[in-house]
Amino acid sequence: DGATGFTSEDVKPPPLAGPNVMNVILVAAECAPWSKTGGLGDVAGALPKALARRGHRVMVVAPRYGDYAEPQDSGVRKAYKVDGQYMEVAYFHAYIDGVDFVFIESAVFRHMEHNIYGGKREDILKRMVLFCKAAVEVPWLVPCGGVCYGDGNLAFIANDWHTALLPVYLKAYYRDNGLMIYTRSILVIHNIAHQYKELFAWIISVKFIQGRGPVADFSFVDLPGHYLDLFKMNDPIGGEHFNIFAAGLKTADRVVTVSHGYAWELKTVDGGWGLHGIINENDWKFRGIVNGIDTEDWNPQYDVFLKSDGYTNYSLETLKTGKAQCKAALQKELGLPVREDVPVIGFIGRLDHQKGVDLIAEAIPWMMGQDVQLIMLGSGRPDLEEMLRAFEHQHRDKVRGWVGFSVQTAHRITAGADILLMPSRFEPCGLNQLYAMNCGTIPVVHAVGGLRDTVHPFNPYEESGLGWTFDSAEVGKLIHALGNCFYTYRDYKQSWEGIQRRGMMQDLSWDHAAQNYEEVLVAAKYQW
Ligand code: ADP
Repeated sequence: DGATGFTSEDVKPPPLAGPNVMNVILVAAECAPWSKTGGLGDVAGALPKALARRGHRVMVVAPRYGDYAEPQDSGVRKAYKVDGQYMEVAYFHAYIDGVDFVFIESAVFRHMEHNIYGGKREDILKRMVLFCKAAVEVPWLVPCGGVCYGDGNLAFIANDWHTALLPVYLKAYYRDNGLMIYTRSILVIHNIAHQYKELFAWIISVKFIQGRGPVADFSFVDLPGHYLDLFKMNDPIGGEHFNIFAAGLKTADRVVTVSHGYAWELKTVDGGWGLHGIINENDWKFRGIVNGIDTEDWNPQYDVFLKSDGYTNYSLETLKTGKAQCKAALQKELGLPVREDVPVIGFIGRLDHQKGVDLIAEAIPWMMGQDVQLIMLGSGRPDLEEMLRAFEHQHRDKVRGWVGFSVQTAHRITAGADILLMPSRFEPCGLNQLYAMNCGTIPVVHAVGGLRDTVHPFNPYEESGLGWTFDSAEVGKLIHALGNCFYTYRDYKQSWEGIQRRGMMQDLSWDHAAQNYEEVLVAAKYQW
């Protein structure tokens, strides 16, 4: 299943897009390495490069949160009306790895890189209105290599509710007026629950959050009155309300989500967070495509974070010794007993309800009875951050709970751990399990969404599979899966190495996913 066994050195150039070559503009609120809160940032940083490698002309548009080194001021300025006031933006540009990066500068984005989705509801909404209005005009305003993209063969890729206004603006401002009629828009759902990010705030009845609000919010988005119906939703939690994602899903020419499993879950009452009805109605334009990974950034052979402090780069050929060295370096760096024979379990992720950290908490008493080491890296809900610190405090010889966001530590855990635990309640795609497999670190996951798509369970009779899965988010199931995993780790070294090698031999690069995105772009262009 996609396992080709090539290494970065013998990768052949992927087939080019040929006559299907397009101009593609991906618009996202975050883009790695400049800004990143989670998987969306990684996708915005990597998918465009893969599309460019296939021959497309590709641009990324993101807010300019800080003073980035490469992008230069293009000199282009334009003022957009937001909530009755004109706000001026400046456009910055850089051409990197075959992709045009355009950053939109405004006082409202300044220094917001750690709080991209933060602030009062109206303020977030106004930021995103400004961003989408400024983004939809980029093909006319910003010369890239001297020439604007224009609207020939053009498709926008918008991402999550933050940019779900983009397809709506394309239609209302241009297509309804007979302009840009061949320009297409694709909306990618990375996480439909992000509109409910503050789930607990919601439960204690703060009614309107993240992309949802009272119907009166329509006044902020600056659209003709007859557009209101696209936004109006009525569901058991919110009652009648204004919903940006709903309008984007209805208006976009195609909708993509980040795995097959999640595509299925989004159509269910539990998984669709109120939007399942719209997704079902638009099934014809809906498709799941599993994310790739940036195989330069997350490659144990070249990883820059493994070049110092006792870590080392390693590959399939040097897996055994290289990984052992990284494991020892990790144990040493974090002050855990340096022992080769103890399984090291890693966890990396946002600390919230989605990621199932509370399940790990429930499993702690059992885990601490085993000969294991547990290393957790995360930030998010203050109570869960406190919990991580408490675990470390109570079990100093076995547990490290690193509270914070550290890309270097994430890389080092991914390389140095034996096992990566992902008990997510839901997981649209999940990237950490992919990074882990690429490093010979074996995932133990709750089989949902993208985790189910990507972690085929180990079958000891056939010596097949990539890790351990459990089929419901219950502590007993998690313990059962981890127990089997430890057993194989200790008693079946060959099977263990087989799983590691199969994980590392997969082609997890973006090239495959980019080809699937291209199919969607081409379908949007012709099947109209
Ligand atoms: P999500 O987008 O739901 O947060 P993903 O698994 O798709 O989850 O992507 C998460 C990304 O964020 C990964 O690249 C992961 O390594 C990174 N990440 C999450 N938490 C941290 C952290 N505390 N420190 C460093 N990187 C983190």
